[in-house]
Amino acid sequence: MSASTSEQRPLRIAIAGGGTAGWMTAAALSRFFDPRHVSIALIESDEIGTVGVGEATIPQIRLFNQSLGIDEDEFLAATQGSYKLGIEFVGWRAPGHRYMHAFGPVGRDVGLVPFQHYWRRALELGFAKPLAHYSLNEMAARADRMHRGEPITARAIPPMPFAFHFDAGLYAAYLRRYAEARGVVRTEGRIADVEQQGDEVRALRLASGERIEADLFVDCTGFRALLIGGEFEDWSHLLPCDRAIAVPCAAGGQFTPYTRATAHAAGWQWRIPLRHRTGNGHVFSSRHMSEDEATAILLGNLDAEPVGEPRTLRFATGKRREAWAGNVVAIGLSSGFLEPLESTSIFLIQSAIQRLIKLLPGRPADRAEYNRQTDFEIERIRDFIILHYALNERPEPFWAEMREMALPETLRAKIDLFAASGHITREHEELFTEVGWLQVMVGQGLVPDGHHPLASAIPERDLAEFLGTIEQLYAREVGQMPSHTDFIARHTKVP
Ligand code: FAD
Repeated sequence: MSASTSEQRPLRIAIAGGGTAGWMTAAALSRFFDPRHVSIALIESDEIGTVGVGEATIPQIRLFNQSLGIDEDEFLAATQGSYKLGIEFVGWRAPGHRYMHAFGPVGRDVGLVPFQHYWRRALELGFAKPLAHYSLNEMAARADRMHRGEPITARAIPPMPFAFHFDAGLYAAYLRRYAEARGVVRTEGRIADVEQQGDEVRALRLASGERIEADLFVDCTGFRALLIGGEFEDWSHLLPCDRAIAVPCAAGGQFTPYTRATAHAAGWQWRIPLRHRTGNGHVFSSRHMSEDEATAILLGNLDAEPVGEPRTLRFATGKRREAWAGNVVAIGLSSGFLEPLESTSIFLIQSAIQRLIKLLPGRPADRAEYNRQTDFEIERIRDFIILHYALNERPEPFWAEMREMALPETLRAKIDLFAASGHITREHEELFTEVGWLQVMVGQGLVPDGHHPLASAIPERDLAEFLGTIEQLYAREVGQMPSHTDFIARHTKVP
């Protein structure tokens, strides 16, 4: 990029698009850069909408908000948000089966030997309970309880990690106020033309005739990906779902502090409880199911009356071959998309922003490193999502195809290692932890053949006591927690 960091004028950054990605980028850049050094413009079109379906997140979102100095209670009230302790998967292994990928530890490691080895031995001995009994997050989630901070009953208990469900449209509006207060200049209008010079973008031309020049452009135009261009690496052969029908319904049913993902014949349905409504959507493969059928399944599985008409979102799973090309960085849906099964899209925005800030000014070597890290991150998340599909016992043709599919080598190796000996390895920059992999592999029915030899060194009675104590401690802690509803009422701060 020809970005000038000259002393005469600030680096000019133009953000195209004002969805969650655009406003998260604008807010973070305005927080970390002095306007004397970096000027930030954002262009968005009111007539072109944004994607906002009622989003679920992972605990890292808290770090993003904290880095901006945002008050958590105020943010949650402004976005109609609720708490999230994990995701429940219903019917994924087989119809009627359920398990949870909860945040936080499962059991307790003993020295260097992870908990699953002790659990596996206890299974062999006949007294291990399902993993759910050793996860504080899952026990609290299933009891509809919530607590944050230091444990209530015993110091030995780890604090519960948590994330949020919220309305991404309201989050974008909240961040807009934040960013504009810090000097971000917003222009409303439709980008009609992208002016190129060689490999670089020079300016954006709006339908109004206005022309906006910059040194660096951030493409946050969503699936339209107006600026980034280049090749799209299509992963449809690995993740064939390519449509989602989304519809909110009136708040009703349980106000769960967890997301629910329910498997259907050719995809799955999300349920995301917010304060004012519940977000729902059916992600499916159009090769295996018609839109009408998918809509009927969705509408037949709501807690309450739908609010508004169902809306169809079409997508291809995959990523840009280069997320940073020339002087354009794609952040958000323009950079790629994975179905929202593990709530990773907003995290990917946050992570891209951090990477961008670290790797400025964006010389060719910086860009190459940015793209390497971006690829690694999304490929490993892709593997984790495929895992949920790959190990299944469901009867429908879609699920049979998923079972028989050739897996990426990296995923195959993880499954084989765990199946043989219960080991799970995680490379340094991978998002999902060993415990996340453990819960999904076991949840989908994979139990290792063996365990670490040290797990046999502990006498049987001590092992039973070890597992029993964890369960009792957690049950007592959950018993002291307020309900999710009460917790929110106590911690609401109106902006
Ligand atoms: P968009 O919201 O599409 O915003 C694009 C912006 O570009 C808009 O402001 C638009 O006006 C502007 N624009 C486009 N063209 C022009 C133009 N010509 N001129 C001017 N402006 C223009 N994420 C999660 O973390 N958790 C979830 O549970 C989750 N669920 C999802 C479910 C589905 C079905 C989908 C599709 C996404 C989901 N996401 C989820 C992703 C999340 O909603 C998006 O990542 C997030 O909202 C960011 O979108 P965006 O800002 O990249 O794009």
